[in-house]
Amino acid sequence: MNTIDFRSDTVTWPTARMREAMSVARVGDDVYGEDPTVNELQTKAAALLGKESALFVASGTMGNLVGILAQATRGDQVLLGADAHSFRSEAGSMAALGGVVPRPLSTDAFGMMNLRELEAAISPDDPHYPRNRLVALENTYGARQGMPQPIEYFAEVRTFADMFGLSIHLDGARLFNAAVALGVSAAQIVQYVDTVSFCLSKGLCAPVGSVVCGTREFIHEARRIRKALGGGMRQAGIVAAAGIVAIEEMIDRLADDHRVAKQLAIGLSEIEGIRLDPNEIRTNIVMFELDDSVQRSVEDVAQAVFDDSGVLIGTRGERGFRAVTHYWVGTDDVERLLVQVRKALSR
Ligand SMILES: *Cc1c(COP(=O)(O)O)cnc(C)c1O
Repeated sequence: MNTIDFRSDTVTWPTARMREAMSVARVGDDVYGEDPTVNELQTKAAALLGKESALFVASGTMGNLVGILAQATRGDQVLLGADAHSFRSEAGSMAALGGVVPRPLSTDAFGMMNLRELEAAISPDDPHYPRNRLVALENTYGARQGMPQPIEYFAEVRTFADMFGLSIHLDGARLFNAAVALGVSAAQIVQYVDTVSFCLSKGLCAPVGSVVCGTREFIHEARRIRKALGGGMRQAGIVAAAGIVAIEEMIDRLADDHRVAKQLAIGLSEIEGIRLDPNEIRTNIVMFELDDSVQRSVEDVAQAVFDDSGVLIGTRGERGFRAVTHYWVGTDDVERLLVQVRKALSR
């Protein structure tokens, strides 16, 4: 039985075109800045996002960490969502490794912070308080089933940041999902932020890597921090080659993932015992819950689905599930998942 993996878009394998590009990639020592394929990826990524310069890094976590530590130092505070990935799911790295103080704020159904709360979190220039330095945003917002945040929010946060002399870093792990869902270019979204990192290895299917973009001066500093974190990779062109295919060929097709996610959400909403509003599914992440009528645990249901069909889904907390669509799952796999969920709940 072949496994169908809906747990995340990180499980995506490289495409045939990627493997081909990897096998013939020209390489050099990237710590010397001499890997032509890494340099090509960086040039193309910067151009795509309308930024001066870019840096290839090992992961999304490293991209965020480099982005934050290049702009904030010990005792500086970063305003961000309390459920943002860089606060909750990156091992506390900004504090652990950089002494940067995260200031988590509540977010709405789109993962957006309230402008008044942001302003209230600005500390006065007083020896009691951390220095104000950075706002960290995330688009799409993972904890809110991949909600794409509107461009107007970015314009508003930019105005706020400028008022208080702050920089903005965007965790754009799924930036292109947001752009495709909103019908705008990624460059239009990131025009309002100073720095941005995006993942090549999620919906874009590259095996490894993220890119962080910003000014030339920022990237100069980012390169030093990447080295300090142990992220200076040598003949990294082998993996960067897949990244070039990712940004050239895999962005527009994210619309397919969003369509398949919508199909899944509508199907799930018609199953008795499942709670979700398909209107809230805008990109490739589908979060759904068991309602109180269901006695079985989520682990039990997920296990039953896997045992019967080889379909993997993620569980979240006591009553929740997460299913993520991507290049390697299609409409037939969604039908298979729906049949199995229905079956698991009727037992
Ligand atoms: C996946 C993800 C990251 C981190 O990426 P890794 O490559 O797993 O380190 C950061 N932010 C968000 C929103 C993500 O979904």
